[in-house]
Amino acid sequence: MGTVTAYGVRAPGAGIERMEIMRRDVGPYDIAIAIAFVGICHSDIHNARDEWGHTAFPLVPGHEIAGTVTAVGSSVRTLAPGDRVGVGVIVDSCRNCAQCLAGNEQYCEAGCVETYNDVGRDGQPTWGGYSERIVVDEHFVYRVPDALSLEAAAPLLCAGITVYSPLRHWGAGPGTRVAVVGLGGLGHMAVKLAAALGAEVTVLSRTVAKEADSARLGAQRHVATHNTSLSELREQFDIVVNTVSARVGLDAHLSLLAVDGVLVNVGLPPERMDLAAATLVDRRRSLAGSMIGGVTETQEMLEFCAGNGCGADVEVVSADDIAAAWDRVVAGDVRYRFVIDGSTIR
Ligand code: NAP
Ligand code: ZN
Ligand code: ZN
Repeated sequence: MGTVTAYGVRAPGAGIERMEIMRRDVGPYDIAIAIAFVGICHSDIHNARDEWGHTAFPLVPGHEIAGTVTAVGSSVRTLAPGDRVGVGVIVDSCRNCAQCLAGNEQYCEAGCVETYNDVGRDGQPTWGGYSERIVVDEHFVYRVPDALSLEAAAPLLCAGITVYSPLRHWGAGPGTRVAVVGLGGLGHMAVKLAAALGAEVTVLSRTVAKEADSARLGAQRHVATHNTSLSELREQFDIVVNTVSARVGLDAHLSLLAVDGVLVNVGLPPERMDLAAATLVDRRRSLAGSMIGGVTETQEMLEFCAGNGCGADVEVVSADDIAAAWDRVVAGDVRYRFVIDGSTIR
């Protein structure tokens, strides 16, 4: 494929800027995609600012990709030019280990290859979706159902699947009480999906600013944590999904759980979090984590979203606005996902 225009960060502490990257030629099993929209995930910012301490620069972020197929490899039978497709957080895995065979490619025993900040099995660095075009193995390319616009679909490829997978794994549905902590990109999808699955949903947000949105997204209750003690909500939930990008008090959030409840942590703050063993022992509580979802489950999630009107709530920005959008995400001022208009990346 050759050189394509992208937006990335050249060095630790540098800002985001336009750059050229090399994309591989379309191999027999590859799909070439013209990127229409790419979501801004908080992980892009953690990485770009090297908050996790493992970013390889230069970095081109972006793992919530939606676009149109422009070419397919000679052995590809499943997709054709013109198809509407998505790409998420992973672009390769071994396909042979127990986890890959079980549909958990994200937990591949050989290590999956991430869409950016990683090295592909060809030894070349991976570059994310803040770019004009991308080439991805067909196994990791999803069909976007007709009922979803490409801009509303893009954030589903990370934010959507990251909350869908644990909600399904831990059985959110009629009769379960779900609390969603943090109403950002992941949080707003957790509310929509838990509500669509039939659960009773409560949002724990810092302030009342997003209260009307909580109700619109499907929550029964919105609790502003800056003026409510979590102890008032003790033992009221079966599943707590923590999407906060900063450190939270684990004891206080575990205490929200009734007997056999689970706190699923999907947020990835750089700081460590600690807890008292007694909080876990009491009520036979579980503390869990979860990373995105597997390939089959991601396609299933897209169909579920299409069937239940669960596209992401997006604000479309141009490539020139990425730095400002990042600042707004960090400030908690996004309703509820920025997506970059791919036509402005050129
Ligand atoms: P986001 O849009 O910034 O949402 C995070 C929300 O957390 C904010 O909207 C805010 O909600 C709340 N929040 C932010 N700072 C806070 C603070 N200091 N104290 C309390 N609450 C705070 O981020 P996102 O894209 O949804 O990602 C959230 C986290 O998940 C990030 O750490 C990201 O890296 C991680 N992530 C993990 C996976 C995975 O596979 N596990 C996948 C994607 C992302 P309120 O305004 O409502 O309080
Ligand atoms: Zn993400
Ligand atoms: Zn594997």
